[in-house]
Amino acid sequence: MSTPPIPEFSDAEVAELRERYRAERERRVRPDGAAQYRRAEGGFGYYAEDPYAEEITREPLDDRVDAIVLGGGFGGLCAAARLRQRGVERIRIVEKGGDFGGTWYWNRYPGIHCDIESYVYLPLLEEVGYVPRWKYSPGEEIRQHARAIGRTFDLYCDACFQTGVTELRWDDGEWVVRTDRGDAMRATYVVVSNGTLDHPKLPGIPGIETFRGHTFHTSRWDYGYTGGGPDGGLTGLADKRVAIIGTGATAIQVVPHVARDARELLVFQRTPSSVDVRDNRPTDPEWAASLQPGWHARRRENFQAAVTGQPVEDDLVDDAWTASAPVLGKIISTDARADRDADEWERAEELLDFAKMNRLRARVEQVVDDPATAELLKPWYRYGCKRPTFSDEYLTAFNRDTVTLVDTADSGGVERFTETGLVVGGREYEVDCVIFATGFEVGKSDVMTGRLPVHGRDGTRLLDVWRDRGVRTLHGFTSNGFPNLFHLGPLQNAPSVNYAHVLDEQAIHVAEVVAEARRRGVKTVEPTADAEIEWVETITASSPDRAWFDAECTPGYYNNEGSARPRITFAAGPAAFQRLLREWRSGDGINDVLGDAG
Ligand code: NDP
Repeated sequence: MSTPPIPEFSDAEVAELRERYRAERERRVRPDGAAQYRRAEGGFGYYAEDPYAEEITREPLDDRVDAIVLGGGFGGLCAAARLRQRGVERIRIVEKGGDFGGTWYWNRYPGIHCDIESYVYLPLLEEVGYVPRWKYSPGEEIRQHARAIGRTFDLYCDACFQTGVTELRWDDGEWVVRTDRGDAMRATYVVVSNGTLDHPKLPGIPGIETFRGHTFHTSRWDYGYTGGGPDGGLTGLADKRVAIIGTGATAIQVVPHVARDARELLVFQRTPSSVDVRDNRPTDPEWAASLQPGWHARRRENFQAAVTGQPVEDDLVDDAWTASAPVLGKIISTDARADRDADEWERAEELLDFAKMNRLRARVEQVVDDPATAELLKPWYRYGCKRPTFSDEYLTAFNRDTVTLVDTADSGGVERFTETGLVVGGREYEVDCVIFATGFEVGKSDVMTGRLPVHGRDGTRLLDVWRDRGVRTLHGFTSNGFPNLFHLGPLQNAPSVNYAHVLDEQAIHVAEVVAEARRRGVKTVEPTADAEIEWVETITASSPDRAWFDAECTPGYYNNEGSARPRITFAAGPAAFQRLLREWRSGDGINDVLGDAG
């Protein structure tokens, strides 16, 4: 790794910052940890139904296809597209929404954008023949790109929308996929990619049921109430006093719009986000026209290398993510520092982190006029403790006379609801509307939570096996006893900040393995128990020890709300993991999952 200059801090400064971080964490840790949240299963403006499309009616299906892909977000779309590229004919995506897009289908709140550069975030750009119009795409452009992938790879013809999968069962050499529409479809292969951002959560604030005003969750934005659309113009709020609970990546994008249009906005903050520079800009048409074949893969790999601290000749994306590479090591694993003394680097990383966070705190001070508000907006924790955010409009929103920041840190969040408002520090704030920007059950797929039961050979239940023996997969994709079933997502593999890239690499791997099975005439893809055990041992033994870091972090979903649990990731990082998969496929490794031809 190119060594960044290590900033100097005196021992006293280091001790002071550490103590401040510890004290700020203590203010926020709650004894109930992750149990403080409740599922948004209905009510408070949240509903599972699809507000964006006509209700689809159809007869239940009991037909047979080659592959069923669960989820029509980017993971599922990439899986289906990559399978199509490798010659698989009948591919069915089963999706809860009324169209493709996944989280970008459901989330249409004002200001919605992706904060990863669009030229590296959006998958299959060259295949679709598209160059995004903005460096950071708005949600609608992203959703339209998802639809374009569906059209390009002919995925609409067999897709089942507004359909939730309720059970997967291996039966006589194929999977039976049951759904909430009474389907019992059969498929040789199943790819599970139904996401980890689709179950919104609400804070379990006492009295929440008693509030008589209007409420909704950001993932079900109620434009009927607010007026306007994702670009703003929320005219319905002109006479409303609005509360937003939460200041994570979603709220950062929503707040400027509500601040502009509401009569009054109260932002209820427990932990401030770190807010770095955004600097969005339209795509330069000359640059777009100059792109040569292969540009997309090169740019994605360049970004992945840059954010993991690998040497890159030219930082193509060159934004606040890549500039933060030296302090991203607690979010993304990397082998870029393998040749350094671990303790020495740990110390250097902490100093770099102090310097980075000092700059972000100084930015707050520069931008926010009222010193007391600025003080409350300063993040006091290590950069990798919370999902970083990026905005050039969020902090300035607090300079409006109509916007008030309500700090809830000392009461562990909003204390309680009344019929007419919210209570913090014993004071009631009356509001007309409460918007929950309180996030999702991040990182938990329906398979892991048991919402989607999976029965393999002899009816064995996947979660029972994993409960008894621990979670066991080969490379996070396949499990012994569950043939031809592939998981995409964060499971015993290597995540990165550009998750759409991670998912596409996973999709490429699955498609290559399926193609090889078909080429060899092999009926089942299934790892041996030994191969699985070996992978789990490899990844567990090498997984970086972040428990001490998580234990010092302010609470959030990264550290299971302050009650740190081990995070198992491939220590050498995403690029090394992708290399390992390629070598495994082209070597003998693949024979471990491909049984006999029959
Ligand atoms: P988050 O979980 O990140 O944020 C939830 C917010 O609600 C936090 O600020 C939290 O405070 C606050 N909160 C929860 N309970 C209470 C309470 N009782 N009182 C006061 N505040 C409370 O959700 P987001 O929707 O912001 O983000 C969800 C996911 O979506 C993330 O993974 C994010 O990365 C992703 N995302 C990505 C975007 C992109 O551009 N790529 C854009 C938007 C979202 P505290 O921090 O103290 O817990």
